[in-house]
Amino acid sequence: MITTADRPPLPPAPDLTVRQKCRNAQPGSYGHECGRPAHFAITYWTDAWCSYPARWYTGFYCVACYQNGYEAQRARELGVRTVALTPAMDGVR
Ligand SMILES: [Zn+2]
Repeated sequence: MITTADRPPLPPAPDLTVRQKCRNAQPGSYGHECGRPAHFAITYWTDAWCSYPARWYTGFYCVACYQNGYEAQRARELGVRTVALTPAMDGVR
């Protein structure tokens, strides 16, 4: 178990010039990601969830999934950095 103090530094913030697609997947739909244009990037440590070895992961989510998506909700719980990818989303939380 890697303690919080042992974690490597946060990865760089997402490149806002790259258009990302939503990575949210609902339970039982692994491999079938949403795919709509992403408006939020959430960086979280995967230790408490699903990736081994644990690592920093940045998930990208559209507005609908950010607000209601299963995976996005977990990302929001664990997230240590949330970035609005478009100026229109700056005030949305
Ligand atoms: Zn989505």
